[in-house]
Amino acid sequence: MERPVTEADLTFDHVPETDQSFENALTKARASDRLTVDDAIELLTTGTDVDGIDQTRKEQVLEAADRRRADVVGEEVTFVANLNNNVTTACNVGCLFCNFKDAAHTFERDTELQSAGFTKTPEESREIVADAVDRGVYEVTSVSGLHPAFALDDEHLEVLEAHPEPKAVNYKPPEAYEIDPGTYTDQISAMSVDGVHVHSMTPEEAYHARRGTDWSYEVVYGRLKAAGLDTVPGTAAEILVEEVREVICPGKISTEGWLEAMEAAANVGLGLTATIMYGHVENEAHRAMHLQRVRELQERVDGAITEFVPLSFVHQNTPLYEHDVVSGGASIDEDELLIAVSRLFLDNIDHIQSSWVKYGDEQGLKMLSCGADDFMGTILSEEITKRAGGEYGEYRSFADYVDLISSIGRVPVERSTDYETRRIIDPDEPPFGPRLGPKSDGTPILTPEERAPPADD
Ligand code: SF4
Repeated sequence: MERPVTEADLTFDHVPETDQSFENALTKARASDRLTVDDAIELLTTGTDVDGIDQTRKEQVLEAADRRRADVVGEEVTFVANLNNNVTTACNVGCLFCNFKDAAHTFERDTELQSAGFTKTPEESREIVADAVDRGVYEVTSVSGLHPAFALDDEHLEVLEAHPEPKAVNYKPPEAYEIDPGTYTDQISAMSVDGVHVHSMTPEEAYHARRGTDWSYEVVYGRLKAAGLDTVPGTAAEILVEEVREVICPGKISTEGWLEAMEAAANVGLGLTATIMYGHVENEAHRAMHLQRVRELQERVDGAITEFVPLSFVHQNTPLYEHDVVSGGASIDEDELLIAVSRLFLDNIDHIQSSWVKYGDEQGLKMLSCGADDFMGTILSEEITKRAGGEYGEYRSFADYVDLISSIGRVPVERSTDYETRRIIDPDEPPFGPRLGPKSDGTPILTPEERAPPADD
């Protein structure tokens, strides 16, 4: 039997070595000059001439990023009233950093196996979203496993049904499963309730929604848009360098495929976000290359990316950790530098998000002084990070947001998903609930009794 890959086996073509100096890179960053990959490597490593992180240099990078943040977006810290409604955990792709999935065969009708996961029907999704919208929520984010029965729409279902080798395209008919998730367009139109903003269909899901066809991503996203899709989360990006993807997610969409799908989504008029998932096997050269690919994409899509979301790898309960391919996640220094260098490098993306789900409250707040200016959303239901061992996958109320943001002297601002609509919140005027949604009137989303368990207290 072949021995599994371990941390000691990993060698990469791209390594953090440059002809640049830390001082030059910092000078360019302070002057708001456009940074190169080598500059970014110098800043992310606090200089390739030193071993480990130099604390004085790190503070210089963070300070430059904090100044840039103040120049670009001022003192406001934004957040959104959103719901996470993930449709299914059934997935066969087997990404080694993921513990969100449950093997798809455990969802089948005639299995003896007990599935630990869930699948929701379109009707269930609609009910969940309708309840959230009644409570004032105005964005639903939905990212799911690649259920083998999922098809884009009825036409795609017919193509998959007629496919000579369904296994080769990861397809099994809906009847084989205990619960039929419906098609992607069924789910999107079910979630598109009362003008709620539907943020869904990552490039990976779009890839699944065209398998077995020669349809372009424009066709796929065009049909999803017609069903009610508003914007596309740029997750599944992980690290956009093939030699890293080959280790952590060999079965997943390629770098080129991810970029092509994102561009197509923008071409049909959908807004985008972009992400990086770092702190696993990659090095600072890969992080810098990733940032460059995102910055170039933003040029091509003419500014359609509204925010960049750094996601620190949560290693607990993941195959990468359990098989000793990694011994942990990113350090706090690395997290802070990644946020800061994202702010400095991505000079064409206005908003950098601090994810309290990944970093926790205290560090999440600190990130707002390292270059970040957005603090996520209420996340009425959060499943992905919780299942991977993250400790912060809980609902966050507007009152929590106002307290946290005011505590660091910044201005709490409710925003729409696309940042087009904003409302500054006066911390002296409770109660604090959303006001930008079709049914939001300032009432808190959950009553204190409904908050079980409370987020912090
Ligand atoms: S990251 Fe997504 S595609 Fe990969 S295994 Fe997890 S759910 Fe499946």
